[in-house]
Amino acid sequence: MIPITVVDVQDAEPLVLEVLRSGVIAQGPMVKRFEEAFAKVAGVPHAIAVNNGTTALVASIQALDLKPGDEVITSPFTFVATLNAILEAGATARFADIRTDDFCIDADAVSAQVTDRTKVLMPVHLYGQTADMGKLVPLAEQHGLTIVEDSAQAVGATFEGKAAGSFGIGCFSLYATKNITTAEGGMITTSDDALADKLRVMRNQGMRARYQYEMAGHNYRLTDLHAALGIPQLENLPTLTAARQRNADVLSKGLADITGLTVPGVLPGREHVWHQYTVLVGEDAAVTRDELSAKLNEKGIGNGIYYPKLVFDYDCYRDRADVIASDVPVAKKVAEQALSLPVHPKLTDAELETIVASVREVFGA
Ligand SMILES: *Cc1c(COP(=O)(O)O)cnc(C)c1O
Repeated sequence: MIPITVVDVQDAEPLVLEVLRSGVIAQGPMVKRFEEAFAKVAGVPHAIAVNNGTTALVASIQALDLKPGDEVITSPFTFVATLNAILEAGATARFADIRTDDFCIDADAVSAQVTDRTKVLMPVHLYGQTADMGKLVPLAEQHGLTIVEDSAQAVGATFEGKAAGSFGIGCFSLYATKNITTAEGGMITTSDDALADKLRVMRNQGMRARYQYEMAGHNYRLTDLHAALGIPQLENLPTLTAARQRNADVLSKGLADITGLTVPGVLPGREHVWHQYTVLVGEDAAVTRDELSAKLNEKGIGNGIYYPKLVFDYDCYRDRADVIASDVPVAKKVAEQALSLPVHPKLTDAELETIVASVREVFGA
């Protein structure tokens, strides 16, 4: 079996032991060290560690003090956490269609969704490539929107040399399957000193100094044990990302000429960090997406459908006034055609060859 993802945190053993021996196991000096290293990767002065990526999104929206009915525009083609975070923070979600070349929100579609209640634009940098920030940043400025980037899948990705998480408030996930993991964990990045300060206070029960409360806060803290897991991976990030990029390259070369199969592209000016390697199985292909997935499973090739439906297209959201569904034909089609293949840094040359050969065999190509 070639798994779609492999977790390798063995490098962290010395740092984890250091935390265990120190007796400081909750938020302490290791979290601070991790935050400082993370801020460098995102190219911003501040990184605030929280207990998961969903919390990072919730806290970022909460820090903006929205009023009930204020709206966030996001992608309909994302993990459910994006939507759940908007709702948890008390905002209303609207959706703009995506593009097929980067699977991210389409700036032209965003304009049509802006109302006088819109306060936040939340692009999702899907699969490890950023959205078109060259268009989205001016658009947000034009309408007075705050950008909250769902960068959960995009640690280290760049757009014209600027890192994901540096265009607005950056929200990262450090869940077990993400490019960098602390088992569970999240990170918020920002260049705004006042916002960083507010998030640090909010994360710790609204407490600045002991028993000095400034707001009704929360416990959003990460632990030193988790931070210790992340530090060595962060140091290794360029190597880990280069391996993903090389693997993606091998897959694309091997699969480029199959009728009906579209391999993922890297758009000019963007560095793709390949959280997922996602092909589209078109209507003219020899098999359907679901058939390809089933055949690959039979052959022991791990694969995943991220995501099989639009995020708002579930009964639990259907009757909610704070989830405003819209017509998003591109996202709908992509949800029917997308299939992710293994691209993780642990893949061997032989495994890459097996993946390519297996896909070609299923297509008879
Ligand atoms: C993983 C993920 C999240 C949520 O992060 P958690 O750490 O699992 O809470 C949010 N958005 C996207 C796009 C994700 O992939």
